[in-house]
Amino acid sequence: MRLQGKVILITGSGSGIGRSTAQLFGREGAKVIVNDLNTEHGEETVQLIQQAGGEAVFIRADVTNPGEVSAMVEQIIAQYGRIDVLFNNAGISGVGLLHEIEPEAWDKVINVNIRGVFIPSKYVIPHMMKQQSGSIINMSSCIAEIGLARRASYAATKGAVLALTKSMQVDYASYNIRVNALLPGTIMTPFVEDYLKKSYDNPEEAIEGLKKRQLSEELGRPEDVALAALFLASDDSKFVMGAPFYVDGGVVFG
Ligand code: NAD
Repeated sequence: MRLQGKVILITGSGSGIGRSTAQLFGREGAKVIVNDLNTEHGEETVQLIQQAGGEAVFIRADVTNPGEVSAMVEQIIAQYGRIDVLFNNAGISGVGLLHEIEPEAWDKVINVNIRGVFIPSKYVIPHMMKQQSGSIINMSSCIAEIGLARRASYAATKGAVLALTKSMQVDYASYNIRVNALLPGTIMTPFVEDYLKKSYDNPEEAIEGLKKRQLSEELGRPEDVALAALFLASDDSKFVMGAPFYVDGGVVFG
């Protein structure tokens, strides 16, 4: 088992990539802290992990809320005494042409996708500094590096997460903390289904269009990203620092 005994917090793990990663990490021996806004979905993830013989607890917290996040981190420290891995996965979609985006909608995407990485990191890092070890995985996207239609607000956040990752890595390397970014391509989750429904009259046609933008003939599955997260969470990646880690079927180069 590649994560035996590691205490791992995954934000937004009530669905999609976060849930799939939580399940894989549970199978690899981690003590998984499932976080989400949605209690029902978070509890479901915990059940799935426990049914497979793994160890998990759910803690509800809004990743943008300092009070809720600091209470979550204190609860984890009280229960387990340490946090080995933080996966800043929670995020929301933002769709629309820039001139049509309402300022409130813009602020919401920026808030969840950037502040939602800042706040959990802010409260977890002091514990990793004390431990003199830790791995942080920040969820960016291949959209940080390519243009995609009607995604201006979302792309801005994922570019920011990539820049933030590199800065964090430089600042905390001396504490033996590694900080890397995942850049998935199109991964079929509720998040993408929502984007396709809102953006296209014919989502099936849009899926074919997305496939043409990549080298792989298939769109990604949450498990594909989970396997990359497993590498970054485990000690196998001890020489990987501040890296943009693509899991995109070749979309950047396609
Ligand atoms: P998803 O919608 O299936 O899951 C996201 C989860 O985050 C949900 O359970 C939601 O309740 C939770 N969440 C949202 N706001 C939160 C908050 N404020 N506090 C706590 N939890 C919150 O989405 P997904 O496709 O699994 O995406 C996960 C991450 O991967 C996101 O950051 C997304 O931007 C990123 N990503 C997804 C794709 C893709 O194609 N699916 C591609 C690149 C990057």
